Parts: sequence; structure tokens; C-alpha cells
Amino acid sequence: MTSLNVLVAVCMAYVILLFGVAFAADRLSSTGRTTWLRSPLVYTLSLSIYCTAWTFYGAVGYAARSGLEFVTIYLGPTLVMIGWWWGLRKLVRVGRSQRVTSIADLISSRYGKSNTLAVCVTLLAVIGVTPYIALQLQSITLSFDIFAEADPVSRPGEGSSAFWVACGLAVFAILFGTRNLDANERHHGVVTAVAIEAVVKLVALLAVGVFVVWGIAGGLGDTLARIDASEIGVWQVDHGRWATITFLAAAAFVCLPRMFQVMVVENDDERHLRTAAWAFPLYLMLMSLFVVPIAVVGLELMPEGANPDLFVLTIPLAEGQETLAMLSFLGGFSSATSMVIVAAMALSTMVSNHIVMPIWLNAQGSGASVSGDVRSVVLYARRVSIAVILALGYFYYRLSGGGAALASIGLIAFAGIAQILPALVGGLFWRGATRTGALVGLTVGFVLWLYTLLLPGMGAGVIAPQVMEHGLFGLSWLRPQALFGIAGMDPMVHSVMWSLSLNTAAFCIASLLSFPSPLERLQGAQFVNVFDHSAGPRGWTGSVAQSEDLMIMSQRIMGAREAQEFFQSEAMAQGSRAYLPEPTPAFLERLERELSGSVGAATAHAMIGQIVGGSSVSVEDLLAVADESAQLLEYSSRLEAKSAELSRTARKLREANEKLTQISLQKDAFLSQISHELRTPMTSIRAFSEILRDTDGLAPVDKTRYAAIIHDEALRLTRLLDDLLDLSVLENGQVTLNMGQGRLVDVLDRAMATALTGTDRPLRVRRHRGAERIVLRTDLDRLSQVFINLITNAQKYCDAADPELSVTVHDVGGRIVVDLIDNGSGIPRDARKMVFEKFARVGAEKAGGAGLGLAICREIMQRLGGDISYLSGQEGGAFRVSLPVGMEIAAQ
Ligand code: ADP
Repeated sequence: MTSLNVLVAVCMAYVILLFGVAFAADRLSSTGRTTWLRSPLVYTLSLSIYCTAWTFYGAVGYAARSGLEFVTIYLGPTLVMIGWWWGLRKLVRVGRSQRVTSIADLISSRYGKSNTLAVCVTLLAVIGVTPYIALQLQSITLSFDIFAEADPVSRPGEGSSAFWVACGLAVFAILFGTRNLDANERHHGVVTAVAIEAVVKLVALLAVGVFVVWGIAGGLGDTLARIDASEIGVWQVDHGRWATITFLAAAAFVCLPRMFQVMVVENDDERHLRTAAWAFPLYLMLMSLFVVPIAVVGLELMPEGANPDLFVLTIPLAEGQETLAMLSFLGGFSSATSMVIVAAMALSTMVSNHIVMPIWLNAQGSGASVSGDVRSVVLYARRVSIAVILALGYFYYRLSGGGAALASIGLIAFAGIAQILPALVGGLFWRGATRTGALVGLTVGFVLWLYTLLLPGMGAGVIAPQVMEHGLFGLSWLRPQALFGIAGMDPMVHSVMWSLSLNTAAFCIASLLSFPSPLERLQGAQFVNVFDHSAGPRGWTGSVAQSEDLMIMSQRIMGAREAQEFFQSEAMAQGSRAYLPEPTPAFLERLERELSGSVGAATAHAMIGQIVGGSSVSVEDLLAVADESAQLLEYSSRLEAKSAELSRTARKLREANEKLTQISLQKDAFLSQISHELRTPMTSIRAFSEILRDTDGLAPVDKTRYAAIIHDEALRLTRLLDDLLDLSVLENGQVTLNMGQGRLVDVLDRAMATALTGTDRPLRVRRHRGAERIVLRTDLDRLSQVFINLITNAQKYCDAADPELSVTVHDVGGRIVVDLIDNGSGIPRDARKMVFEKFARVGAEKAGGAGLGLAICREIMQRLGGDISYLSGQEGGAFRVSLPVGMEIAAQ
């Protein structure tokens, strides 16, 4: 008996071989030597990921349980390949011309690049495919266990093999599926490894089949006789189930994310489809050739109760054919791993492009524009998504407990994925299909599938028994397996019928009722008429004279040096000594791809078409060009806006910097000013207090005089400090305004009284009290403080023999102003600008003010929302206080 360790070693060696092949293929493709990698054979073999472990092991089990129904699983894809290859060709062409990266991307781009749709398809795919991945893990684990049973010594812990397998698959998918970001999203390494696995699984199954027929059953004739004798050979057809499952297999073949990945995204050349159209059905036929014999012989040979799903493995083991069993094991292993790797890659592209990246870009705001850093985020997002998807598959496997519940999940997943079909086919062939239609159809289909198939299929308890029996909310027409009263049908047929027909109906009706956006219409035209305006594999033929025109055009688009280099290398590759290459179709195709990097695929195509004359420019071409130009324009206008914003920011920064420098200078000046202002009174206080202290016999009169001086200076100091404090509070904006309502005349009365009492110099004031009878709503005390300051200044600085101050109130341009004009000599013209600055004084230190009063006034007026300025053109000192605009003013 093969020990488990040998098995693990063989597996490891096989995986290392696959790694090597994938690595070598990636290396080859990066050096451009991809001829055999691009052969139609590799393409056809890569399509074989359709045959997962579910088909490798399960087909025999299926046949053992339900007879020939298993054929439907192979029949669906065969019909698609033979009968619908023109549809596939259209799909591949659209995929290439639109550079789609996944089925979600295709649907989203067809319906006006809608991300909502992409998210829906992605979620549907993740929900549909996760159980399928779990199924693969289960099959690997089961087949391991078969070997492990015979080798109790090194038997792994429960479920641990599934865990390690999941980890290994994640590493493989991450290594080869996310090595780089390619605009075409092709992964030669993975595809080549998958092709090799395809060969291994076919050889393994054929080998087991040959052994069973000729080694056990005793030849072809005997085998046929055994088949005739067994129940499996009885031709029993449930037409509904046959039609439904064939259709489902066909739909899944087109819509499964992993199939889309190998068929469309990894497709290098549309012509490969022509080969695949006959070669892939042949492959499927070979895969199914020995299913019935193995099932029949297995049922006869194996003990009662043996799992028919594992006959492919257990028959050779029971017959002592260990090498064959090992080969069979590798076949199953290949089927499972290739499916999981490609599915994880395809799903991770969808999850990262349509869910993670939009969220990340949103979170980054407008800052995420550096392409380098976005690329690395995309790669990380993909890697994490692969790990998460495999983890989901693993947990699903653990939670479902494996076993029979999983075996039926393959068809259920097919039915879920098939919900994409109406939107996909409609998008390819019907210009009237709209985004709303696709969304509504998908949602209806998804909900029905969930309710009628997935949830009931998950076993008892997921849906309450009452609901199963009497319908949701007790409505009998809502019974999950007898919707709208149609009971007694096979649950699968029932669910597929309702979900797909209502999905299609909803899709058509909503499409007819909704209006497509311009982008949707444009994309619709591009998809439906893809053959009219996209380059086929040999789209162009040109003459030498055109090379020069092409060169001139390319220089304009790519830049002179790049274009010359490109043309030269092409000429060299053609082996010509001329400077310009021959415009061969291959060269034109490469040139188009190169140009489309700068101007977009449609524009590049139209431009080359113009020069080479291979095709006239159609309206759709023009529309496509217009679309691209609009995108470019939008992009460039966004760039412009960005650069304008940048220069605005730079200017603001410069201004802020200048201001800071100024403030720093002012701060220095302020500090030296303030120390000067403080020192003057301090010096006299110190001097006179020393005299008082040190001089004996001072006359009482002198004593009183000196004490009075000290007192006055101390008062001045206090006033100065008060003013400074007030100013700093005002400047910091920490001041709280005490809003109130009052009449201007009262404010002025109060200010007069405060400013003029106790002064020895008389100041006559002339007022027009009538005009002052207006009601204000503001901080009345602060306003009064401004007036007090102005009146005190007039009283202090007015040098007229008979000082007089006139206060007038009037309306200037809709604003109430109060002018205070005295009859002194005023402030000299050149000093007017700076009297509002701190410590600004005109002339000598006339009346001992510190020069803070007007600065405080200005701050207050600004806080109140008004203004104060010097009024030029008057005889004497003249100030204008403008009351705030928004202030509530009412005449009274
Ligand atoms: P201070 O606190 O010293 O009074 P202000 O900021 O109130 O300082 O005034 C600044 C300078 O403006 C004063 O030093 C004075 O020279 C000049 N000034 C202010 N008001 C008048 C006026 N009505 N007539 C002449 N000069 C004035």
C-alpha cells in the first residue's frame, strides 16, 4: 500500500513541476517568445477547467446514482461550442476590444460602466462560486483520506489536509495570478500550468477507464454486456431535467467567472476559438467515455455502501494497482487545483477592481492620483482577495461539514451563475438593453434563486419548515418549491424555470421602460456592432508608402523619439534594413495597441483605418472617438483644475509666509516698544521713590508732590497694561460680544460724559441729536468705548485755541456713519495711515498716550463688523466710524 508520505511527496513534486512550468511560461512571455504558449491547443486545454473535481470524480457517482443524466453536464458546453461559437466569438471580440478583465467588468462596461452592476455580478459570483471551491477542497481531502485510511501511522488530523491544500492554492494563485498588472490581464504561466493539468486529468481518467474495461471487465464486448445488464444502461429520460441541466451547463460554461477568464480574458487570438470549437467537445467526449463503464464495474465490484464518487480512485486501489491509483489521484488533484486557482484569480480581480478599489479611492479622496502607488494597492487588494476567497471556501467546507450536502451544490452554483446570462446575452445582441433592465433582472433572478434553490438546498433549518410547507407569510403561492402554485416539479427545474424566466422578463420590461444614458447607448452600439468597428485578427493591410504617414501620425501621438524607436525595432524584427517597417497586419496590430495606450482603442483604430484605408470610419467609430475624447477632455480639465488649485495653494502659502515674516518683525518691534513704554513710568517711579526713601528732611510739600507723581505714573502703567490686555484679547478673537439694543444718541451721551468729566481743558461739542435717534443692535459698551477714545483724543490733541468737536450722523452708500471732526490741526497726511497701528503716535509724546487707543478702536470696530478710518479733506482731526452693515437699525 502506498504510504501517505509517498503520496504527499508525489503531490509536492507535481506541484513543484507546475510551479516550474508556470514560472518558465511567465519568463518566456515576458521576453516575448510566446509562440507555443499562444497555440490553440493550449487555449483548448485551458478551457478544460470546466471539468473540475466535481466532474472528474463526481461524474461516475452521478452515473451510478442517476444513470445517463450525467451526460448533460458535458452536453451543455458541447452544444455551446458547436452551435454557438459565433456568439462566443462575439464575446471574445468584445472582451478584447473593450479590454475587459472579468465578467463583472464586461457587464458593467456594456451598461454604461456602471459599478453598481459590477458589484452585483461580483457578489453573485462570490456567493455562487464559494461552495464550488469548498467542493474542490472536499474532493482533495476525501481522496487523501482514501489513502490515509490504509496508512493510519501518518494519518493527518481532521480537516488539516484541506487547510494546507487551501493555503497552497492561495500561494500558487497569488504568485502567478498577481505578479504584475497587465492591461490585458493575461497570465501565461497559470494558463500553461492549467493546460498541463488538463492533460494529466484526461490521461488519468482514460487510464483508469482502459484498466476497468480491459483489465477487469474483460474487454469491450463484456463491458457492453455488463452495461446492458445494469440499471445505468436503461435509457430513462426525465425530459424536464435533461433540458434544464443541459441548459444550465451551457449557461454556466459561458457565465462562470473562471470560464470567462480562460475563454475571453486569457484569449490571445480569436482564431483559437475555431480550433476549440471541435477540440474541446472532443476533450469532453474523451473525459466522459469511460464514465459509465467505471460506474457499472464499480457498482458490481465494490462492497455495498462504497461511495461511487470515489470509484475512479477506489477501483484501482482495490485491484492493487497503486501506480494507477496514484495517477488517478493526481488527475483529481489537477482538476481541483486548476479550478480553484483560476476561480480565485478571476474572483479576486472582480472583488479588487469593483469593491476594494472604489472604496479605497473614495477613502483617499482626491489625493490618490499617483499611478505607481495605485498599482501596488491593486496588487495587494488582489492578493488579499485571493486569500479571502480561499478562506471563504475553506470555512464553507468546514461549516457545511462536507459530505452529501456539498455534492449537490455544483448544480445549484450553476443555476446561480446562470442568472447573469440574460444581461450578458441581451447586452451582446440587443441595443435596447439598459442598465436598469440588467439590474432589475439580475436582482429578480438572484432573489428567486436564493429563495427557491440555494436556501432550501442548504438543508433543514435554513428555511423554516412552515415556510417550506405553507409559503412565506402563510401565502401558499410563495412556497419555495411550489412558486405560484406550481407544485410537484423537480426542485431544480422549478427554480431554474422561475428564476431565469422572470429574470429575463424583468430585464426586458425594465429595459423597455427605462432610458439609457448616452454612455450606455454608445457602449450598447459598440457591443452589438462589435464586428463593424473593431480590428479582426487580420484587420489591416497596407502598402509601404503608408508607413511614412503612419510614422508621422505616431510621432505626434507617442512623441518623436518613442515612435522612431518603435518603428526601428519593428523594422529590425522584420529583418529589413530599411528605416521603416513594412505595414504588415501584425505590425499594424501592434502599432494600434501601442497607440491605444495614449489615445484610447477606438481612436487608435479609427486613425490607422484612415491612413491604411482598410475600413472607412463609421458613425460608431466617431461616437467611440467622441467618447474617448470626452473622457480625455474631462481628464485634462480635471488636471487643469488640480493645477489651478495647486497654484492657488502656492500663492496662499507665499502670502502666509510673507505675513508670518511681517508678524515676526512686528512682534520684535512690539516687544521693544512695550519695554520702552513700561520702562519710562517705572524709571520715574523708581527715581521718586528713592528720593522719598533716601532724602531726610524733605519738605512735606515735596513729599506730597513726589508721591503724587509716583501715583500718576503707577496709574499710567495700569492704564497701559489694561489697554494692552484689551488689545490682545481683541486681536486673539477671544472677546465675547455683549449684544444689546439701544439708541445711538444714548451711546454718544454716555461717551461724552465719561470722556469729558474731570478734564481741565474745555471742549465744546456740537451735535445734531435729531439724526442720532436711531436704534442699534450691537455691543453698546464696546461702541461707546470707541467714541470715548475718539472724544478723549480730540480733547487731548486738538490744538485750537477754542477747541470744538462736531459729531454728525449720516447715510453714506446705505451705511450709517458717525463723523467726529475737531478744529485742530489734525494728523499730517503721511502719518494718517499708521495712526491705527499699535504704539503709533504723531509728533512728540504730547499728552502721554501710549498710542494704543486707535488700534483698540480699529479692532473693536472690526469685531463689531463695522469700520473706522481717518477722514481726509477736513480742516482738523477727523475720524469716521462706519456702523456695521448687517446691524439692525431703526429710526426713532
Ligand atoms: P494715544 O493712546 O496715545 O492717544 P491713539 O492711538 O489714540 O494714541 O492716537 C495715536 C496718535 O494719533 C496720537 O498720538 C495723536 O498724535 C494722534 N491723534 C489722535 N487723535 C487726534 C486728533 N483728534 N487730532 C490730532 N492728532 C490726533
